[in-house]
Amino acid sequence: MSEKIRVLLDEETVEKRICEVAARISEEYKGKEIHMICVLKGGVFFMCELAKRITVPVTLDFMSVSSYGDDTKSSGVVKIVKDLDQPLEDKEVLVVEDIIDSGRTLSYLLDVLKRRNPNSVRLCTLLDKPDRRVVKGVDVDYCCFNIPDEFVVGYGLDYAQKYRNLPYIGVVEFE
Ligand code: 5GP
Repeated sequence: MSEKIRVLLDEETVEKRICEVAARISEEYKGKEIHMICVLKGGVFFMCELAKRITVPVTLDFMSVSSYGDDTKSSGVVKIVKDLDQPLEDKEVLVVEDIIDSGRTLSYLLDVLKRRNPNSVRLCTLLDKPDRRVVKGVDVDYCCFNIPDEFVVGYGLDYAQKYRNLPYIGVVEFE
């Protein structure tokens, strides 16, 4: 079986929207410093594009979690594979995610981060599949695109570790 990628959101559309969201974030955090937390590996492309366009001071840290599941679904059992380097105490934390699907990964992660006494925690995601949500309490503060229930790749998102470097968002189709 081979796979084909159908473009869902082209490069120009994605970049334009990231600029809009970055402008909103810059406005809402005026006078403050943002501590951005990137959830590896999927969030890394989005975080770079977003951070470059934010006009208030930004610091960065990275976290890697594995949620046990198959290639296309998370199970809800989450393990921290790489923890943050810096403490969160009194910081304005902005968690940057590639995609929220069931919400299980984020729900776990937000609980962990909030226990570290940041001043605030907000969530920014490139993509959201609201129809797939099974966990309550995952409030998305900034979302670039709501998308339908399809498996997407590109802009950091992979299928079997491939396609992360595509500069657009595409749907994997098997033929
Ligand atoms: P959740 O815990 O919200 O169900 O899943 C979140 C994680 O599942 C994402 O960070 C991502 O790694 C993976 N995921 C969910 N939907 C997709 C998708 O359409 N494409 C890809 N590549 N990964 C997805």
